[in-house]
Parts: sequence; C-alpha cells; structure tokens
Amino acid sequence: MSTHRQHEVADRGCYLLLLDLLRDRRIQIGRLGRIAFKKGTYVYVGSAERGLSARVARHVRRRKRFHWHIDYLRAACGRVVGLPIRSSRRQECEVARAVAALLEPGPRGFGSSDCRCPTHLFWSPDDPLALPAFRTLLERFRMRPPG
Ligand SMILES: [Zn+2]
Repeated sequence: MSTHRQHEVADRGCYLLLLDLLRDRRIQIGRLGRIAFKKGTYVYVGSAERGLSARVARHVRRRKRFHWHIDYLRAACGRVVGLPIRSSRRQECEVARAVAALLEPGPRGFGSSDCRCPTHLFWSPDDPLALPAFRTLLERFRMRPPG
C-alpha cells in the first residue's frame, strides 16, 4: 500500500526530451508561427505535476493531438528520447537555465508561455549526451533527493 502511495508521489517532476531533426526544416509551431529549425538535436525541458511517466511516454509517441509547442516539433523529428527527473520541487526553469549555459537557445517563447524563461528549447549540432558537461548536468539534477 505505502509503496503505491510513494510511487504516486514520486511520479512527478520535470523531464528533458532529446529530439533528432534530420534536416533543416520550417515548421509551424502553433501560435508561435512558422519557424526555421536547423538540423541537429533539440533539447526540450518540460514538467508534469503528476503522471510524469505518462507525460514522457506521450511525447515519445508520434501520433496524437497537438497541444503543446513541442508536439509540433516532435512530429517532424525522428528519434525522441525522454529523460525524466523525478522531484516534488518545481525545478523545470532551473534545469532550463542550466541547459541554456551549455547549448544554443531555440526559438524565443518555445515552451515558456507560463514562465519568464526566454525559451525551454535548446539546440545542439550533435547528440548532447556525448558532451560530458551535459551528462554532468543530467546527473546533478537526477541524483538530487526527490523531496
Ligand atoms: Zn521557465
């Protein structure tokens, strides 16, 4: 019983999505408009107050109704990898700032309609998981106690 409760409590936090765009493309991103995207790997930082696992699984799926900015970009991408960071603290924007220190920013306002960050989307010419600094960032947030 208690294990189930603990699981529910723990299944929230934020996540990173790594999305491979295989060629340069212009993509309509909801009300943000039509935006030019360079090929490469995009890193998106999002959050789920509950159902974190389901949210990440939803983003990895290709077919769905478009709801968030990231849904439009996802539809144009090949491989998508989801990296959940379980936490009851709201640290989505903190993670976004940490990623911003390492990678180029994506379009202004992408995924950041509800906060003061310039964007929650970032771009890397190569797989960011190959960057030691990026792996360190990920480990730093994932190893924090989830309290
Ligand atoms: Zn933010």
